[in-house]
This record gives sequence, structure tokens and C-alpha cells, in this order.
Amino acid sequence: MKRPPAPAGRHSPAPLSLPPTDVQAKEVKKSESPEKELNPRALITRRPHRPLRSREAEKDAYGRVFAGCGMQADYEVTTKLGEGTFGEVHKALQMSTGRLVALKRILMHNEKEGMPVTALREIKILKALKHPHVVPLVDMFVVRSTHGEGPASVFMVFPYMDHDLAGLLENERVQLQPSHIKLYMKQLLEGTEYMHRNNIVHRDMKAANLLINNEGVLQIADFGLARAFDPRVGQGLLDRKYTNCVVTRWYRPPELLLGARQYGSEIDLWGIGCVLGEMFVRHPILPGSSDLDQLDRIWQLCGTPNQQTWPNFDGLPGCEGVKRFTQYNRQIGKHYHTWGKELISIMEQLLSCNPRERITATEALDHEWFWTEPFPADPKKCVHCLLQQIIQDEVC
Ligand code: ADP
Ligand code: MG
Repeated sequence: MKRPPAPAGRHSPAPLSLPPTDVQAKEVKKSESPEKELNPRALITRRPHRPLRSREAEKDAYGRVFAGCGMQADYEVTTKLGEGTFGEVHKALQMSTGRLVALKRILMHNEKEGMPVTALREIKILKALKHPHVVPLVDMFVVRSTHGEGPASVFMVFPYMDHDLAGLLENERVQLQPSHIKLYMKQLLEGTEYMHRNNIVHRDMKAANLLINNEGVLQIADFGLARAFDPRVGQGLLDRKYTNCVVTRWYRPPELLLGARQYGSEIDLWGIGCVLGEMFVRHPILPGSSDLDQLDRIWQLCGTPNQQTWPNFDGLPGCEGVKRFTQYNRQIGKHYHTWGKELISIMEQLLSCNPRERITATEALDHEWFWTEPFPADPKKCVHCLLQQIIQDEVC
């Protein structure tokens, strides 16, 4: 389809027939040269562009210099790593640096509407965040379609990470000791605490969005559903509504399943609780087959809420028309007793149905579980060797 002509922007030259502006007209009157009076264009002198700041001054002021986008030619694609709702991910070699990267292609279903808003949010948030446990966006590039028709593709470039947590947990040969789980949880909570302190809520916490490399470093990835939030909304101090159609069902907290639209960072902590349980039992702990089944599984593990445990929960839209949920008692202690009372305690606080009582990332980092033996593993000593051994075996 033929593109409409670009609107006359600030880069278009002024049409030759334009009359002089008031200022130009005054200048012409002042001028003594009769020739200039007849030719107002002669007054427009072209000045050389001088940047306001040198690159060094720019670096001092912003901590970085404007680099622009990369080029497709700099990347040699090898294998496909994954495909999700919003894009597909390939492993590639960045030739200019020799490092391995992951290319995430943003699917453009309808170019007329431009970049999907989810991708714009993801880019904006990733560019703003900088933390050792949040995946960094290292480059972006655009690929035009072959004949200039059809949508262009936009790629985001991330450092390549050897595993995602879901894949690791599916691999029976990977043995995770409680000290390894503590190491991953510590990093996950540190990254989350940083996001929440900066008023970003991830809204898709799950094992598949947590990347881990062979050095035992964990990074939170996939900011496709993330958004900035106002902390007053979750506290009920500001009347603003967000969508509740977020978070993959198995990791979705009960308040979202019940239709809550005023929430904050606490929704991520529920997902983190599900991930923690999953690391111990090696499979998703609440694999609901429908939203109703999801709620029923939550009540079976965490107890059906009542006015004492969760005041006014029945005022949420999802409770409308429901006479009574099946009554269950809380069973978290029973499920996790093998791993000690500290684990039970942190699980109880992460999987609190009442969002107001759910532990925050900052509080969780200070929980007894992290301060009782076995302590978080030292990545230099064990996880590193453990994962590398597996990779070597697989390659052989
Ligand atoms: P989606 O929105 O499609 O879920 P993700 O960013 O979660 O996109 O990426 C999908 C999958 O691709 C991940 O679950 C992971 O397996 C893989 N992946 C994503 N980023 C990387 C990376 N930097 N290194 C290695 N694998 C990655
Ligand atoms: Mg994902």
C-alpha cells in the first residue's frame, strides 16, 4: 500500500513562494539594499550547527552519550530461543563485540497502528532501569521488509543468558540445593525491590521470565506487561484503575482473579511466592486450568478467605453472584514442612491472599529464611560449577 506523504515537518525546506514573516519584513525595511528588499530569502542565513555540549560534557551530564540504533548486519543469528505472545527470541553473535546476545523481535501485527504499546512500554522501562538483576537492553535495530511493503521489524538486543528458570527446573539433571534457591531468590528480590522502589510493577513474574547464566547470575526479563504505578493506588489513597488482565494465570494473585483494578507492587510478590515454591517442588505449584479452577487451587493451598483474614474481599467484582466459595483451611505449613519453619514462614507471607498483608520485597530480603543455614550459595563456588558441568555434559 502506498504510504501517505509525510507531513511538512521541521526538516522540510520553506516553500519558495512564502511571504516574509513580520520579523523578516521589518528587517527588510531596515535594510538599505534595494536588492534585499526584493528578495526576502536572502535574509535567511544558514548557520553551521554547533552542538550545545561536547560528547564528554554529554557523558558528564547524562552518564552516557547518544549512541543511536545498531544495524542488522552486526548480528549473525544462530538458534531460536523462545516465542511468546509479543515476539520471538533468537540467539545471535554480535560481530562488533564478539559477544553472544538474544534478539527479541517485536511482532507488528498492524503497522497502521505503529509499534504496539506494550513494546513501547517495555523499551521505555528497560531504558530507565539499570540494575545487576534486571536484564539490560544493549541495542536495538530495525529491519525493513524486503520489498518495502508489509511491516518493518524492530529488534531489542539483550546479553545472552544460558537458561531461563522454567527450563532449568524442567531439566531433571539440575539439582538445586536450598542454598542455590536462596541465592536465586536473593537476586530476584533485589531486582524486584529496585523496580518497586522506582515505581515499576512487572506484572508477569514467572519462572520463564527469570534468566540465569552459568555464573549463577539471575536477571528479571520480559517487561512486556510492566508499567509505572502510583503507590497510592494500591494503598487505596488514589482512585485510578489498572487492567486486571495481567500476569500469567498460574502466577496470578487472587485479587486480580477476583477482578481488582486498584493494585500495586504486591501483585509481583505473589508470583515470586509461586516461583519460590516451584523451585522446591520442581513444578508450578498452582497450575489452574481456568480462572475459577485457579481460585479454587489457591483456596485449597492458602485457605478460603473470610472477613478476618481478608476484610471486604467479597466487595471485589469477581465475588458478585458467588454465594459461597468452597471452604478450605490453609495448608502451606503441611506442603513445605520438609524445608523448615523459616521457609514455611516466608511462603506464608508471600502467598498471603490479603494483598495488604503480603510481604514486600524489602521485608522479604530481611526475612529469617535468608539468615538461617544454609545461607545463600556463593556463585563463584558452586552454582557456577554445577551449571557448567551440565552444559559440558550436554555438549559432549
Ligand atoms: P515473551 O514476551 O515472548 O515471553 P521473553 O522476553 O519472555 O518474551 O522471551 C521469551 C523466552 O526467550 C524466555 O522465556 C527465554 O526462554 C528466552 N529469552 C529471552 N531473553 C533471553 C536472553 N537474554 N537470553 C537467553 N534467552 C532469552
Ligand atoms: Mg516471557
